[in-house]
Amino acid sequence: MAHRVTFIPGDGTGPEIAEATKRVLEGAGVEFDWDQQEAGIDVYESGGKPLPDETLQSIRDNGVAIKGPTTTPVGSGFRSVNVALRKELDLYSCQRPCKAYEGVRTRFPETDIVIVRENHEDLYAGIEYEMGSEDAQKLRECISALGSEIREDAGISIKPISVYGTTRIVESAFKYAKDNGRSKVTAAHKANIMKFSDGLFLKIATEIAEKHPEIEFEERIIDNLCNQLVSRPEEYDVIVLPNLYGDIVSDLGAGMIGGLGMAPGGNIGDDIAVFEATHGSAPKYKGQNKVNPMALMLSGVMMLRHLGEREAADRLENAIAEVIRKGEKVTYDMKPTRDDPTAVGTSEVADAIIEEMNS
Ligand code: NAD
Repeated sequence: MAHRVTFIPGDGTGPEIAEATKRVLEGAGVEFDWDQQEAGIDVYESGGKPLPDETLQSIRDNGVAIKGPTTTPVGSGFRSVNVALRKELDLYSCQRPCKAYEGVRTRFPETDIVIVRENHEDLYAGIEYEMGSEDAQKLRECISALGSEIREDAGISIKPISVYGTTRIVESAFKYAKDNGRSKVTAAHKANIMKFSDGLFLKIATEIAEKHPEIEFEERIIDNLCNQLVSRPEEYDVIVLPNLYGDIVSDLGAGMIGGLGMAPGGNIGDDIAVFEATHGSAPKYKGQNKVNPMALMLSGVMMLRHLGEREAADRLENAIAEVIRKGEKVTYDMKPTRDDPTAVGTSEVADAIIEEMNS
């Protein structure tokens, strides 16, 4: 039976890479019943909401979506579609595999890690008080009554980390490890300094690890983790982190595997999963058939595995890996220099991958 999946092309370069991704997903031999929906700046500028209700409903109904990037204009007053999607659909686990395929230009060819980032809590919870505001003053007074002082000229961001949020994210990291044949989970934190937020994260992670003895568990202080990732990346496997560290280490991981054009992702909840690349809409390249579709294609590989289509996922991933290894039919960002005249366009990459799957 065909998989009914919500398909959101997005805006900027999104529609080009989404179309290329759709073609390779179909080329992998899986039947889809695409439910195409809009999101982003184009629908907003034509009078709609950046994240229309029908789009949200479609994802709720289908349980699975693949999405091209969407622009968040600076100062427009519209909330990021991605943040809204994660909140509305309770997609609490952001999963980002970072694998350096042979042929990619990287100083870290042994990298094969998976970042599992908590999506809702931590300093990104949006609980902030502006310097000099009445609320900041009230909070300062409260904190002063508790025996600590905050300077009057300080802005304040609150960092909540809960048992509930940590349990969900750490369980999702162990589930990812089991489902994908991974052998180790590392929890990253700064519990030596933030004893009651990161300390709680570490305590809960350690307790949950005891329930999964078949998967190795270790913990690392976040600064030490960053150091070790760029000196001994082969020692790491699945890494679970609170929101802020997860955000930063995701980009570090993307840099280690050849750049944003290669970094896939999925935002996963209990019943809903939305797959999308780590990168944004790269609007300056819109309509030029230029940018690398592989990050969204590899997000598609994750989606195939999520749908239980493991053989097709392997077929597509192997074909992508082979095109990268050959190094001919790849976009400008994967060539030795960015102005390499042999670089091909977005849709030609899809052609090459489909040809590889059929050979
Ligand atoms: P970006 O990721 O869109 O682009 C930054 C640069 O990275 C580009 O100029 C390009 O040089 C390179 N790049 C990105 N994707 C590439 C690809 N597929 N192939 C080759 N090179 C690629 O980041 P930005 O310019 O900071 O953001 C543009 C817009 O995207 C903003 O409005 C931002 O809010 C939004 N954004 C969306 C998402 C999402 O939809 N998931 C994620 C991040 C940013």
